Amino acid sequence: MAGGTVIVGGGQGGYQTAASLREAGYGERIVIVGEEPELPYQRPPLSKAYLLGDTTAERLHFRPANFYEKHAIEVVTGTRVTGIERAAARVTLASGTALDYDHLVLATGARNRKLPVEGANLDGVMYLRTLAEADSIKAHFAAAANIVVAGAGFIGLELAAVASKLGKSVHVIEPLARVMSRAVTPAVSQFFAEAHAAFSVNLLLNTRLQSIAGAKGRVTGVTLGDGRNLPADLVLVGIGIEPAADLAQACDLPVANGIVVDARLLTADAKISAIGDCASFPCDGGMLRLESVQNAVDQGRCVAKRIAGQPADFHAVPWFWSDQRDLKLQMVGLTAGCDRTVMRGDPAARAFSVFCFRGERLIGIESINKAADHMFGRRLLASGETVTPEEAADPGFDLKARLARIAQAEKAAL
Ligand SMILES: Cc1cc2nc3c(=O)[nH]c(=O)nc-3n(C[C@H](O)[C@H](O)[C@H](O)COP(=O)(O)OP(=O)(O)OC[C@H]3O[C@@H](n4cnc5c(N)ncnc54)[C@H](O)[C@@H]3O)c2cc1C
Repeated sequence: MAGGTVIVGGGQGGYQTAASLREAGYGERIVIVGEEPELPYQRPPLSKAYLLGDTTAERLHFRPANFYEKHAIEVVTGTRVTGIERAAARVTLASGTALDYDHLVLATGARNRKLPVEGANLDGVMYLRTLAEADSIKAHFAAAANIVVAGAGFIGLELAAVASKLGKSVHVIEPLARVMSRAVTPAVSQFFAEAHAAFSVNLLLNTRLQSIAGAKGRVTGVTLGDGRNLPADLVLVGIGIEPAADLAQACDLPVANGIVVDARLLTADAKISAIGDCASFPCDGGMLRLESVQNAVDQGRCVAKRIAGQPADFHAVPWFWSDQRDLKLQMVGLTAGCDRTVMRGDPAARAFSVFCFRGERLIGIESINKAADHMFGRRLLASGETVTPEEAADPGFDLKARLARIAQAEKAAL
């Protein structure tokens, strides 16, 4: 039945696409099919406020049920899309029904990478991607004294921050030499390693989790690569995700670290787009896959505009945040390729930024408790302008004044 736009996945990107389609005046049928039982909700609080008990499940929803009714957006929850018949432009659902589409948007997100060690199937080894998993971790927290976190990426450190705040004994096991090493510069890794030590988190870098021990089917401890044993009531695993690209793969769409799309976020099939965590898109001469709210939102908006008749290539400045106790880390740009960094502010005061340059060009900023620097970076990078390393290093250099000058020049060019 139907036509219009079918969106697979009722997460950040799926919700955004539907809402932006209506905002852009799209008048055809819109159906979101999501395998989770809830209305679309935000994931970031799952590892932060929700786990701490500072917010409720209802408050995670992007919109209440009547929003979808009002905007004629059909949301099919608790139902998995099991196949795509490209020739017929139709998806099949686990419920046995089928939906025809004029356009299909794959917003299937990602799945947690599983810990490949002995004992990983024991009760008490837990992952965090969904509200259901957050509820399960919450339910186990009360009785847990010793918590081992596998992985010192964003999710692992956020879990460690929450667990330590709740008074648990926490060990974080990380095989690499520094925390969040895929995403931040060494100075920021070092700062967070020290901060977690001050939260009484035991951070074990350069350390492998060898195996998990249990009794009566439940976790009792872990063994490390160096032979040490640690007691554990819970093992929380945050070792990265894998793009959910199985549907695309099964219908022969190109997949390489995600569903491959072009600059307009179209797959090799002109009727199928892919967005968010599951999509690999062209950027700076290579392919990029990002795992962030900003990326899913901006890509959802871009695809919605195209479907509604306003096609444009996808361009957006990437940004991301992570909350760990009193520390708000905000990042803008992609800092992995930087060859020079300049620090502004004072790590000892727990408020500073690292400006990251490639040559003379600013490519990103990592800020800790410095929201103004982060916003400066977002606006500067979006304008295509830069600051020099010397300007960034000068404490008297006025970021606001620079933005005002850019805004003036942009206005004059109109
Ligand atoms: C605990 C946690 C904390 C995070 N914190 C931050 C943060 O602080 N800042 C930030 O920028 N980002 C954060 N993220 C990442 C951010 O939430 C994701 O990048 C974002 O949700 C991606 O949106 P998406 O639409 O691509 O995927 P998702 O939001 O994951 O949605 C995908 C949906 O598709 C469904 N689905 C998959 N396959 C099918 C199918 N075959 N049929 C039907 N439904 C299907 C899935 O069940 C899921 O509901 C966090 C993520 C997690 C898990």
